[in-house]
Amino acid sequence: DRLIAATATPVEESQDRAIRPKRLADYIGQASVREQMTIFIEAAKRRSEALDHTLIFGPPGLGKTTLANILAYEMGGQIKTTSGPVLEKAGDLAAMLTNLEAGDVLFVDEIHRLSPVVEEVLYPAMEDYQLDIMIGEGPAARSIKLDLPPFTLVGATTRAGLLTSPLRDRFGIVQRLEFYSVEHLATIVQRSANILGVSLDEEGAVEVAKRSRGTPRIANRLLRRVRDFAEVKGSGIITQTVADQALSMLDVDHQGFDQMDRRLLLAMIEKFAGGPVGVDSLAAAISEERDTIEDVLEPYLIQQGFIMRTPRGRVVTERAYLHFGLSMPES
Ligand code: ADP
Repeated sequence: DRLIAATATPVEESQDRAIRPKRLADYIGQASVREQMTIFIEAAKRRSEALDHTLIFGPPGLGKTTLANILAYEMGGQIKTTSGPVLEKAGDLAAMLTNLEAGDVLFVDEIHRLSPVVEEVLYPAMEDYQLDIMIGEGPAARSIKLDLPPFTLVGATTRAGLLTSPLRDRFGIVQRLEFYSVEHLATIVQRSANILGVSLDEEGAVEVAKRSRGTPRIANRLLRRVRDFAEVKGSGIITQTVADQALSMLDVDHQGFDQMDRRLLLAMIEKFAGGPVGVDSLAAAISEERDTIEDVLEPYLIQQGFIMRTPRGRVVTERAYLHFGLSMPES
């Protein structure tokens, strides 16, 4: 498995519980999201209403689930968690909705993967807190209507473009999470180290942060691996040298790229003369899923200016050539 995968392993899910921030004040970075949500939460509380339905989008590992949990906590409600692919039938969603209490958050991860029948049930629930569902089949079928308590739907998705527009339009609040700066990631790593009882100096935190692809989940994972290295090979304290040695051994380079990133960039350079190349050809060339390229690999490479998207396909930039010590061919 990829050390710098942005998705969590089941073991990490439980380890994360200790380090996941619970209050908005502990949510590091994402200043404008924090600022706006503080106001929306305060306003909803003053009116004794549920917070407006909120859509959060951004690449994996940037803090969508964390933010959903924080919203529930700050509103004084409970969070019930599910995901698009898990809600197969209308009844699955109905069961979740009828379990909610006033002020609760229903968190639907991967909301772009809801089936159309489930989406239909969601519309009146979001709009009027009404459950409108058919039960039974054939002549015995009947429709029932139920009032739901005022609740907040929080939806998360990696790409907003994948949502149907009727669903998207029903969210009063839309927040986009950005990749984190090295400074903010260093703060996150330092905070996690304190909670986990790991000794980490400032330069060590910055070194881990620099190699974490702008992603808190990766930063926390690299911290754990570097801690192992520091305990076995060093004095237990994570310094810049220890972090550098550990991450180099783990094949995470100075830019935070691993083999998969390098394979993608090198394929573009060597097999497609730098591009433009379509994502499907690229997926075939490196034997990866198209979705993995679009959701996981590409966003960070684009944000860092190694790849550009053009109407004719992806192209690599001079930065990518330089990363491999190559010079960019003329024209
Ligand atoms: P996503 O749902 O977007 O995949 P998560 O919310 O699960 O991401 O975040 C991954 C991990 O990163 C969390 O366990 C949390 O510890 C950490 N994290 C995410 N965002 C922040 C933040 N803003 N401040 C501190 N830690 C964060």
